[in-house]
Amino acid sequence: MLIEVSQIPPDGLDIVLPEEVLDLGAPADTWDGPATVRADLHVGRSGRGLLISGFFSGGVALVCSRCLEPFHFQAEDRFHLYCETAAQAPPEEEHELTDDELDVTYLKEGRIYTDDLLRENILLSLPVQPLCHEDCRGLCPRCGANLNQAACDCTEARVDPRLQALRKLL
Ligand SMILES: [Zn+2]
Ligand SMILES: [Zn+2]
Repeated sequence: MLIEVSQIPPDGLDIVLPEEVLDLGAPADTWDGPATVRADLHVGRSGRGLLISGFFSGGVALVCSRCLEPFHFQAEDRFHLYCETAAQAPPEEEHELTDDELDVTYLKEGRIYTDDLLRENILLSLPVQPLCHEDCRGLCPRCGANLNQAACDCTEARVDPRLQALRKLL
């Protein structure tokens, strides 16, 4: 959705974004596929800028950092952002801010791009090392078996056969 900054009334604007599939960009090690997200926003004017606050909730397919299996993660958070708008003419002694200088990706040419806004906030809310569950046992470093599904025989094989022979004698 695009919000024209010039159309925002003095007392702000409430926006409900219904559930939509949001592309998160090329799948990274952390996530695998798009997010399904919904959000409530309030956009208000503040001085020379905009205050954007709201709440989002999104389901994302993440990849477990231990066992590499995909799992469903529910990301949700509140956010409060302030951004200056270049659209409003600054006083003469200050130079006019360009969109590039604003360093805000979701505000372009006097419009707020809510998809970019939500994408940034979702990516920020994802865990750095996702886990499918807290006590995920991960993969066996020798045979690669998923130890959540079954134990492998690697612990046995690690014992030197000569030691095993010795053990039988004792
Ligand atoms: Zn896992
Ligand atoms: Zn193994």
